[in-house]
Amino acid sequence: NNVSNIDRHIAVFPFPFGSHSGTLFRLVRRLATDAPTVTFSFFSTPKTIESLFSPSKNIPHNIKPYVVSDGVPEGHAFSGNPEEPISLYLAAVEEGEGLKGVLKAAEAEIGQRIGCVMSDAFLWFAGDLAGEMVVPWVPFMVGGAGTNVDNLFRPKTWIGEDPSPVIYMFIFEQTANGRIKILFLGVPKSKRYIIGRENDVVKFIPGFSELRLGDLPMGVLFGNLESPFAIMLHKMGRALPKATAVVINSFEKINQEINQDLKPKFEMFLNVSPFDSISWSSSSAPPSLDSDKYGCIPWLDNHAAASVAYISFGTSATPPPIEIVALAEALEVSGTPFLWSLKDNFKELLPEAFMERASELGKIVPWAPQEQVLAHGSVGVFVTHCGWNSVLESIVAGVPLIGRPFFGDHHLNTWMVTNVWKIGVSLEGGVFTKTGTMSALELVLSHEKGRELREQIGNFKELALKAAGPEGSSTHNLNTLLEVVTKYNLQ
Ligand code: UDP
Repeated sequence: NNVSNIDRHIAVFPFPFGSHSGTLFRLVRRLATDAPTVTFSFFSTPKTIESLFSPSKNIPHNIKPYVVSDGVPEGHAFSGNPEEPISLYLAAVEEGEGLKGVLKAAEAEIGQRIGCVMSDAFLWFAGDLAGEMVVPWVPFMVGGAGTNVDNLFRPKTWIGEDPSPVIYMFIFEQTANGRIKILFLGVPKSKRYIIGRENDVVKFIPGFSELRLGDLPMGVLFGNLESPFAIMLHKMGRALPKATAVVINSFEKINQEINQDLKPKFEMFLNVSPFDSISWSSSSAPPSLDSDKYGCIPWLDNHAAASVAYISFGTSATPPPIEIVALAEALEVSGTPFLWSLKDNFKELLPEAFMERASELGKIVPWAPQEQVLAHGSVGVFVTHCGWNSVLESIVAGVPLIGRPFFGDHHLNTWMVTNVWKIGVSLEGGVFTKTGTMSALELVLSHEKGRELREQIGNFKELALKAAGPEGSSTHNLNTLLEVVTKYNLQ
């Protein structure tokens, strides 16, 4: 590849839902800090632009926000289906014309043509856009290896009836450019659902051996394979080999097998995390995005080492009301000090007068600076949905987890956390009950098992920090990424 020496204008397309846009934003912030003469135009929906570019945040001057339509028609009444906003957004941008319009506007304003397209890997069509402009496409897999399962194993071809009690069959398919082989899983149509087989342990996914079938993300092997979201993941799988470099929100040593499996399938496969960790020793690391608006850190300062349960279910998941009550009761009865990130509108689901009674014991905030909280010595356990960022952040902080997965890759991540990496536990029956939650808390905070979990996650922490250290693989990959996005030419 030719290398350009002219400072570049880079287009960035996040997937504007959940934690995705924030995670790509952080990666871009990191790159923009290291390449202050390069301009990053960040194209996202009004809502995400507003929250990411709020004036209080320390944003490098060379990241420019541009608003893209969220696709929601005027006066639209939402049905409550969580996939609906995603479908509307995809319908608005997939065609490319909408994006081309905003790209042109940004080029005119900056006075420079786009030289590279970075995007969330979900936005497979950004690859087509980059292709038309003949510039590198650099997709970012925010969800870590969990997203690779969708990528690699989505059933594509139905191959007749099930010939044996074994319902899984594999076929290999050569992609259009003939460069890589992707493994697809064929399941007879009549058996697309897995009712009764959820507990089968499957071994067909490299890097995810010993995986419980029921923990695969919906839309991969069962569930609605034709939903816009499932189709998007499938198209992502088809598009990724066209990328100049595929970037993944992970570090190599956490799952060497999957790393080895994926590396040869892409032009470049770059594990770059934890790229923005507060524990990271590099002096060039930018300051954290989150301020401690609600006083979490001073509150933690008043607690004993490894005694507090930090609770958060990320940006999109909330336990059903009955489980919120069970969790609250378990905290109160067990006397476990807690810091709970819970949006104000869910507070009404707590048991009556819970906060008055528990105000000595715990603190509830609508948003916590999670990385700083986890890094605080008084946090002893993270009660989480096992979203990928949360798992990574817990590893970087060395805090064992209690997993309560809800959707997407949460189940798969929880399985890896509890059964493979052995850095956390799940709940009896998979949901919060008062007694089940009390025993999980006790196990992690007070038992020998807790010590073992802490030791084991400490080993992973060491690997993560080493990867992000001066000679580490993620640092090396981050430098390669910077080269690719700021300098590579396709022609
Ligand atoms: N987060 C935070 N404060 C909160 C809740 C969440 O900073 O009170 C951040 C957390 O640090 C993580 C992200 O939100 O980076 C959640 O991402 P994850 O992938 O775990 O879950 P998702 O939101 O995608 O379901």
